[in-house]
Amino acid sequence: LPRKPLLPNQPGAWLGMMGGGQLGRMFTQAANAMGYQVAVLEPEQGCPAAQIAQHHVSAAYTSKDGLRELVKYARHFTTEFENVPAESLKLLGYEGPVAPSAACVSVAQDRLAEKHFFTRCGTNTGVYPAPHWGISNAKDIAAVKDELLPGILKTVRMGYDGKGQIRVNTREELSAAFDTLKHQTCVLEKMLPLAYEVSVLVARGVDGESVVYPIAENMHRDGILFVTLAPSPNVTADVAKKAQEAALHIISELGYVGVLCIEFFVLKDGSLVVNEMAPRPHNSGHYTIDACVTSQFEQQVRATAQLPLGSTAQHMPAVMLNILGDIWFRLSDTEPVDPPWDQILALPGAKLHLYGKAEARHGRKMGHITFVAPELAQAQKHLVEACRILG
Ligand code: ADP
Ligand code: MG
Repeated sequence: LPRKPLLPNQPGAWLGMMGGGQLGRMFTQAANAMGYQVAVLEPEQGCPAAQIAQHHVSAAYTSKDGLRELVKYARHFTTEFENVPAESLKLLGYEGPVAPSAACVSVAQDRLAEKHFFTRCGTNTGVYPAPHWGISNAKDIAAVKDELLPGILKTVRMGYDGKGQIRVNTREELSAAFDTLKHQTCVLEKMLPLAYEVSVLVARGVDGESVVYPIAENMHRDGILFVTLAPSPNVTADVAKKAQEAALHIISELGYVGVLCIEFFVLKDGSLVVNEMAPRPHNSGHYTIDACVTSQFEQQVRATAQLPLGSTAQHMPAVMLNILGDIWFRLSDTEPVDPPWDQILALPGAKLHLYGKAEARHGRKMGHITFVAPELAQAQKHLVEACRILG
């Protein structure tokens, strides 16, 4: 192993990470910039993070041998994906600090546990989750109150990017949807009249000090994040303050260490509803790389290494466009063709981030582009132009 600093949390030391996707890659880039070395545990060869990490442990997330190897390298640990087995984080926790902890990740991995927790926080924050009901059998369906319909049935575990959820209008549709989801434990949520959606990134250090980023506004397409606008052009000062305070309360109540992203709905009547949280840096926070003093990934490095957190100040308005694999198939359904990056990079304020994924596939996140500009409207104009170029 390369030289280690005297203290295992100082730059030059190793950080151990569970997962090797794009979030892990950007974490590694931030860690490397600060002089840290990163060891990644991820089964997939050539994954985005392993391409650049200083060491790759190619093993299953639950492999004892794999975890032992990771521990040989690092004494401080983190995860880049939400569905990391909590048991593995617990085992790492015996060897050194894990940000976030197994206990925190467990709450975020279970939509019902998450909603119970948010409801409890609501007493302080005044912000509650959507009306909901847990469903694990036919009896639960029979007990659903009429006012929860129409609603959305979501699997309690493993849902992301709109997967594992079905919209239902009637009790009969609910029953059929529960069959489609193979009777996995679910939660039915009342369908709410959304005006727009925002997310709040927060981070908390081991000393309990917390920081919050500006409110970002998110637009989805086919369940996948499409565009993030930061700061949100729609949010009022009141709602922004309420969302940030709620996020800060939630992160401290959880006793969380690291970067946490909390999604909120703003309803047509202006009220705020807390939807879900991701226990890691988040797609809607990618703009922080180019537009904030401390990116969400640097913040995660600092929290993981138990260093002081950095400023969340945003120095320029920004919009982020996700680049999905679909763009490679504009010209042909079978032969992927690289997009005209030269035209994209000619746009003012364009910052291109590609994740090194070998194969473009429909719906696969391949990268993102952030446009920064002195005015949000200008950045939006360049984004529209980019969408035109990319088809
Ligand atoms: P995922 O884990 O897939 O992101 P979400 O709970 O965020 O799951 O739901 C995905 C999207 O579905 C949300 O971004 C929102 O647009 C819509 N949605 C989810 N729950 C509700 C609800 N209760 N009422 C209205 N729209 C909802
Ligand atoms: Mg979501």
